[in-house]
Amino acid sequence: MSTLQPPTYADVAAAADRIAGIANRTPVLTSRTANELFGAELYFKCENLQRMGAFKFRGACNALARFTPEQRRAGVVAFSSGNHAQAIALAAKLLGMPATIVMPQDAPAAKVAATKGYGGNVVTYDRYTEDREQIGRELAEKHGLTLIPPYDHPDVIAGQGTAAKELFEEAGPLDAFFVCLGGGGLLAGSALATRALSPDTTLYGVEPEAGNDGQQSFRSGAIVHIDTPKTIADGAQTQHLGQLTFPIIRRDVDDILTASDDELVDCMRFFAERMKIVVEPTGCLGFAAARRMKDQLKGKKVGILVSGGNVDLAAFAAYLAR
Ligand SMILES: *Cc1c(COP(=O)(O)O)cnc(C)c1O
Repeated sequence: MSTLQPPTYADVAAAADRIAGIANRTPVLTSRTANELFGAELYFKCENLQRMGAFKFRGACNALARFTPEQRRAGVVAFSSGNHAQAIALAAKLLGMPATIVMPQDAPAAKVAATKGYGGNVVTYDRYTEDREQIGRELAEKHGLTLIPPYDHPDVIAGQGTAAKELFEEAGPLDAFFVCLGGGGLLAGSALATRALSPDTTLYGVEPEAGNDGQQSFRSGAIVHIDTPKTIADGAQTQHLGQLTFPIIRRDVDDILTASDDELVDCMRFFAERMKIVVEPTGCLGFAAARRMKDQLKGKKVGILVSGGNVDLAAFAAYLAR
């Protein structure tokens, strides 16, 4: 691994240069309906329109681009509930190296198929009984592969922060900014960009109500571990924040909020009906929390990070029908 120093905004800026031309500069969408509903100006950073359908391509690309020639030759191994897997598989393919991906047996079919489609070698495990980190580490040792974790790595955090950097460059300073939270790679990277580019922004992380370990950790000052939460937000079913992500979040984030599965479905419907975009449940966390705070946001400039759009269409239809 290139470095285990905590990343800074300089690393986010370097990552932006490194991934320019490989990752999409995603659009920032606005919606008159949303603005009228809130009485505020909302800016949606649409990482559902990123390559492979989520911001995770940014971190994967940045981490793999820093491999030495020997590391490239042996390849990368990753463990992931989905989007990190696809991100690593696609970034590895584009950079010409082999990728082994450790995925849960019950990962959404679309995510497994896409990972295989990008050329990833998929190894499965039971997410309720087995430790994916241990499986990943064993594979890494046995075959000389470099393990890139989904969030707790300086190059991954720096890469994820490039989405927020682009948002501030395009929308200018914001009063409030809502970012989806799983293990905290996206939130930590976004926090570095926020404190550098729009220091007065009130920054919120948003996680599923069923698994509020981040909120507990943030409020208690120590990383809290929980059982895998049962929620439709499969990209945020993490059990704990990271050793690198937590201190950045504690220092630079203002609060951690939660959203229920029903609220996520309402937001998926809003995005599809009003903005004509497909957003996966996890990608709705930020918007869901902002809706709860609507009255406090009146007259403000608000950023919403829409983190991804990878959802089985059959599942998508079923969510909207319920
Ligand atoms: C991974 C993921 C998240 C959570 O990101 P972390 O860096 O783990 O906090 C949120 N949304 C989507 C779509 C994801 O794939």
